[in-house]
Amino acid sequence: MNLLVTGGAGFIGSNFVMYMLREHPNYEIVNIDALTYAGNLENLKSVEQNPNYSFIKADIRDAKAIDEVFQQGIDVVVNFAAESHVDRSILEPDVFVKTNVFGTQVLLDAAKKYGVTKFVQVSTDEVYGSLGETGLFSETTPLAPNSPYSASKAGGDLLVRAYHETFGITVNITRCSNNYGPYQFPEKLIPLMISRALNDQPLPVYGDGLNIRDWLYVEDHCSAIDLVIHEGQDGEVYNIGGNNERTNVHIVKTILEQLGKPESLITYVQDRPGHDRRYGIDPTKITTELGWKPKHSFETGIKETIDWYLNNQEWWMRIQSGEYEQYYEKQYGIR
Ligand code: NAD
Repeated sequence: MNLLVTGGAGFIGSNFVMYMLREHPNYEIVNIDALTYAGNLENLKSVEQNPNYSFIKADIRDAKAIDEVFQQGIDVVVNFAAESHVDRSILEPDVFVKTNVFGTQVLLDAAKKYGVTKFVQVSTDEVYGSLGETGLFSETTPLAPNSPYSASKAGGDLLVRAYHETFGITVNITRCSNNYGPYQFPEKLIPLMISRALNDQPLPVYGDGLNIRDWLYVEDHCSAIDLVIHEGQDGEVYNIGGNNERTNVHIVKTILEQLGKPESLITYVQDRPGHDRRYGIDPTKITTELGWKPKHSFETGIKETIDWYLNNQEWWMRIQSGEYEQYYEKQYGIR
């Protein structure tokens, strides 16, 4: 299988590339990424010599560049490429619409032109909006995105649906809860809090800290996507989550405890505008219809993750200093 992974230099995409090369040693994987601030090829050092892996620097908004990629012969597309940070979407919504909506449409056009066998859109539970104290998101929950990020992801999802209905492209949409694990860009909650705690800096927690997210270890997300590629029914949406709802402040306290740092580092800051109160995923469909099961419990996954950031401080320090941006140039000799 020739598998095109977009956004494979990001957090989940790079974990997915490594996972697929390990699980399917006979698949050819082409990774395309625009290498925005969030793309880091250093994540993929361990596979860059693998003859079944190749990288092309390309922007999913660039129809000509994308057409050239598809000319290589692509069987399946997994679209991770996105602007992904809610806070940035509040400051700068336009780039979210351009990449997450328009970029998805460019990929769909190429998928249609070259007749790929499947297009998998990697989406998020955030498209469903916010929950009250009870209930869970199912695949039939109406889309009600509240941030420019989630609205742009919902826009991309609707285009995937429309290309399926109108042009008959074989598609799946996956909607996963919050991921955690190695290689997450250190602006996101868990790596941000770890790096600040290690420096004894105050840990900013939005509002009362009681917003709830449903957490999943990144490799369990990868195994779910792998299953959807092979077993997902045409046109279906699959929610992915591990029933691990935790408040933000619980996550921060867990990190402080494991690092042996005092809770006095927690500093409550003004809440994010439009901050969704609670997300919770009902994964019944993917577990019963496709037989997916996460391997990591939250307690062991979070412990391993904190250890990973402790043991790989150089990785996130190079990001914080901006040094990682020179890696591509050094490695490939071009910008
Ligand atoms: P990330 O920000 O770490 O990675 C995104 C990658 O996309 C980066 O490598 C970036 O360079 C690349 N990219 C951005 N714009 C591009 C463009 N125009 N053309 C080509 N590449 C571009 O994000 P992530 O956390 O790894 O998320 C990956 C996907 O999974 C996203 O689609 C996101 O919406 C979805 N998702 C994320 C989570 C989560 O908890 N992180 C949960 C559910 C779904």
